[in-house]
This record gives sequence, C-alpha cells and structure tokens, in this order.
Amino acid sequence: MAKLEYAPAPESRSVVSLRPSYGLFVGGEFVDPVDGGAFKTISPSTEEVLAEVAEAGPADVDRAVAAARRAYGRTWSRLSGRERGKYLFRIARIIQERARELAVLETLDNGKPIKESRDVDVPLVAAHFFYYAGWADKLGHAGFGPDPRPLGVAGQIIPWNFPLLMLAWKVAPALAAGNTVVLKPAETTPLTALLFAEICQQADLPPGVVNILTGAGPTGRALVEHPDVDKVAFTGSTEVGRLIAEAVAGSAKKVTLELGGKAANIVFADAPVDQAVEGIVRGVFFNQGHVCCAGTRLLVQESVADVVLTSLKRRLATLRLGDPLDKNTDIGAINSAVQLERIRALADVGEAEGASRWSAPCTLPDRGYWFPPTVFSGVAQTHRIAREEIFGPVLSVLTFRTPKEAVEKANNTPYGLSAGVWTEKGSRILWMAQHLRAGVVWANTFNHFDPGSPFGGYKESGYGREGGRHGLEAYLDV
Ligand code: NAP
Ligand code: MG
Repeated sequence: MAKLEYAPAPESRSVVSLRPSYGLFVGGEFVDPVDGGAFKTISPSTEEVLAEVAEAGPADVDRAVAAARRAYGRTWSRLSGRERGKYLFRIARIIQERARELAVLETLDNGKPIKESRDVDVPLVAAHFFYYAGWADKLGHAGFGPDPRPLGVAGQIIPWNFPLLMLAWKVAPALAAGNTVVLKPAETTPLTALLFAEICQQADLPPGVVNILTGAGPTGRALVEHPDVDKVAFTGSTEVGRLIAEAVAGSAKKVTLELGGKAANIVFADAPVDQAVEGIVRGVFFNQGHVCCAGTRLLVQESVADVVLTSLKRRLATLRLGDPLDKNTDIGAINSAVQLERIRALADVGEAEGASRWSAPCTLPDRGYWFPPTVFSGVAQTHRIAREEIFGPVLSVLTFRTPKEAVEKANNTPYGLSAGVWTEKGSRILWMAQHLRAGVVWANTFNHFDPGSPFGGYKESGYGREGGRHGLEAYLDV
C-alpha cells in the first residue's frame, strides 16, 4: 500500500488572535503577577514563540485562592443548582460557538493534529460541560444523600497532553457541585486555558469562581500546599502524584490523582485482523502516544502474531506525519524537546535490551520535535519498554498463548488504568474484563471517551474517578 499524496490542506490560523503577552486570571480579570515572572510558550511543530505568559509565584497563589474563597462564600455556594447549571450550559454553548478557534489554538500550542483537536478534544470538552450542567440541579438524586455539600476551593493541576479536555474534566464537575477553582495548566500548553478564562468572562461567570494561574512545577506545588485549599485534583505523572500525596497527607484536604498507565491491548486469534489493527493504531498513535491510557503493550496471540504485525506495519506506513494544522495529518509534533528526549532515550534502551525496532518510513520536518511511529517486537516482560511509560508513539509487542497467560501478562505492571480486548467471543470479553486489573476495559475498540462514564485507575495509576456520577463524588462532602 503506497502512501497517497495529498495536496496541503492547512486550517487557517486567522481565527485565533494571540496577544503578545498574558497575565493571570484572578477574580474575573487578567492581572499582572505580583512576583513578576514570565515565560514563553512555543509551537512544538515549528519552535515559533506564540506568546509570553505570566509565571505565578506564591503571592499570586495566595491572591487566587483568596478570590476563589470569596466567590465560594459570597456567591457560588449560595446559588441554587439550577442557577449554577445555567452558567455551565452557557459556557458549553460558547465552547461550541468558538470550537474552531479553540481547536486551532490547541493544535498550535500542543502540536496535536487539527483532525484530533477539532473532532475529539473540543467536542468532548463541550460534552463535559453539557453533561455536568445537567447534574447541577440534580445533586440530591445522585446517590450522595438528599443535599450533598460542596468542598470549597479546589486546586487543580493538569498536564499538557489534552490541555483543554483535562481542564473540562476538572472544572465542570467542580463547578456543578458548587466549588470554586484555581487551575494551573501545564507550562508548555497554557493558551487554551487562558482562552477559557475569556469564555468565563463572556459567560458572565461571577468573578473568582474560576481562576487560572499559569506557571511551572513550583506554581503547582504552592497551590497544593496552600492552607486554604480544600481539595486537590491532579492529573500527571506518578512521580509528581507521589509528591502531592505526601504534601497533603495529614491535612484535611481531599485529593484525587489521575496518573500514568501502561495499558495492554490484547488481540485474540479470532479477532478480525483489519479492525484490530485500526484499534492498535488508535490505541497508541492517537495524540502521538501522549495518552495516559494508551495501549502501549500489544499482547497478540501467538498463532496470529505474524499476520497482525505485518498488517500493522503496512498500515503504519500510510500514516501522514507533519504540519499539525494540515487537515490530513495523522501524527503531529511531540509536545516538547524534553519529552522528545525522554522518548528517544527509552527507545534506545529498548534496542539495547535486545528488542527489535522498526519505524514507519516518513520524513521528519527540519524544525520542531518529531518522532516516527515505532514498533518494538520480541519484547520481554522484563524490558524497560514493557514496564515504563514512554508517553510517545512507541508500541511494544509481546505474545501469549492462552487467555490466562494474557491476563497474567496484562496485569504484570505497577499501573492499572486501561486495557483493550479484541475477540469475537462475548463470553471471553466478559471473562477478561473481570480479570483485568484496569479502571477501563475497552472491547473491540480503544480510546473511546464519554462524559457519562467514569475514568480512573488502580494501583500506581492513581485514585478517584473522573467523569459520570462518580466524578461528582470527588467534589462533594460525602
Ligand atoms: P507532570 O510532570 O506530573 O506534570 C503534570 C502537572 O503538574 C503540570 O501542570 C506540572 O507543571 C505540574 N507539576 C510539576 N511538578 C509539580 C509539583 N511538584 N507539584 C505540583 N504540580 C507539579 O506530568 P507531565 O509530564 O506533564 O504529563 C505526563 C503524565 O501525565 C504521564 O505520566 C501521563 O500518564 C499522565 N497523565 C495521566 C492522565 C490520567 O487521567 N490518568 C491523563 C493525562 C496524563 P509543568 O508542566 O508546568 O511542569
Ligand atoms: Mg506550547
């Protein structure tokens, strides 16, 4: 199958108007940081500087938490659920109206293909706000007692892989339940959170209900440690998750942690090969593999391993890597130089440990951060590429003979976020789902998300659930 040549089809950037610099969003307005720091955010596909953003220091964290506390006591916690719902519905509708702008900005700042930000991220963001808007006046029917109370001020910290979607997962349920928030986006992807701040203004959200503090790790730490924060919600690495768990231990703060993963995608001999191959591609090459629940360990039944691998390589050779704003692009840029270095280093370890490495033939652009879709076969369970999260477009292939062996290998990981099963047999799907220690098990599909279904992990993948009715519990005093 030769790679089809497509004429360039770039999405226009003109829908986005970037300011040269951004302040912090505190108490309903953009303000200069007290401590005065700033940093630049770039487009990882070109290394072009997009804007300068403020770096929040401890005094800014103080100010934002105070604004959130005031808004909590004076307005937000006093509004009826129906009134809160109205604001959330309004935000959801504005997100839909400004969907193209949000998608283009997300792609610029993050490097992900416009196809994904336009068709996956932003529609899911709107869906989350619609979903939780619907809960705001029905909390008494959510199974947490007749009149569940909010927690207060939530400090929320999110990663760079789905910047706006992770914001939605955190902000929508918090607000629906009656909390106010201070959110810190990741250092490399602050821009859609700042556009979201503008959307809050446009929706006339009472000042201080949502506060956005841009910054890096130390800003996050100051937020976690702030004594007037009632709830900490974190999505990111297991390493930082551990630091946060230590920081809040012994305090009255509630905490939810959504951490890493090393999911098994399990293909049985009776699965339709072409369909499974599409699922493998979606499982690990979606969003350049910057996905915590990515299906990074392919477990394929021995009798079909060769067929599946041949078919997979043929399919990967057709993927188009390049300009993320081009509507035909399948694989965008790696989010940062640091992340690219991590991926390279672990891939090199894979080779050194004896696995055999294959990369899809594609030309990498000269500027920006790029890594080709890569498959390692002959991987043993002891190899680091079978155990550690690579968080890039790299698949490790292992084989199994029996369902029991598949389960043992799949569960042989410190993580437990997700898994996939490909088979024609319904009874086998149910048996596997029962035995896999993973928060989400997809059957004959992968990486499907819905605001109504809870998401979260076992073991080192963290604790607490986001999404669905379960996602409310994390923001209620139950
Ligand atoms: P990370 O280094 O843990 O960063 C996550 C967030 O925490 C960022 O906003 C980061 O700020 C901030 N941060 C860093 N150090 C901190 C500290 N000491 N205290 C408080 N906050 C701190 O993770 P990442 O490399 O950005 O993201 C990749 C990881 O996230 C992967 O392991 C992935 O599996 C996980 N992830 C999990 C889920 C899930 O739902 N389970 C979803 C997406 C990603 P800066 O970015 O500015 O440094
Ligand atoms: Mg950026």
